[in-house]
Amino acid sequence: MSTLTVSVVTPDGPVLEEDFNMVSAKAESGELGILPGHIPMVAPLTISAVRLKGDGDSRRIAVSGGFLEVRPDKVTILAQSAELPSDIDVERARKAKERAERRLKEKQDDIDFRRAELALKRAMNRLDVYNNNF
Ligand code: ATP
Repeated sequence: MSTLTVSVVTPDGPVLEEDFNMVSAKAESGELGILPGHIPMVAPLTISAVRLKGDGDSRRIAVSGGFLEVRPDKVTILAQSAELPSDIDVERARKAKERAERRLKEKQDDIDFRRAELALKRAMNRLDVYNNNF
């Protein structure tokens, strides 16, 4: 087996289904590198970039958490949102980042603070994936 079918799905529908040689992702337990033949597992993902390597074709996707399910010939990513660089609206992400930063500076309860922290992470992740900043 030299390839893995990678399927990325969100509540809005499928984002991508293609074959790749390697998947790199950030799980809550740490960085994962998945090659064909990997043992089956499920891992929660952080707000981060998923990187897909194929023969001459590499892709990156901004995911906002979710789950990664691994089978020897298939990786499925189920995420609340997932965007390829070409789908990222940079101006929207910049505005979301500014809004979250503003909220973090305001005095507020823990729930709103946590919400703003997560919004900031999503916005920065989108900007990083768009700019290929790693
Ligand atoms: P915003 O405050 O701009 O809505 P958000 O982080 O709260 O950002 P999400 O709840 O993560 O947004 O996503 C809602 C939907 O909007 C998802 O379908 C997601 O893919 C899309 N989305 C959010 N931000 C962007 C962006 N900058 N570019 C493209 N799609 C985006």
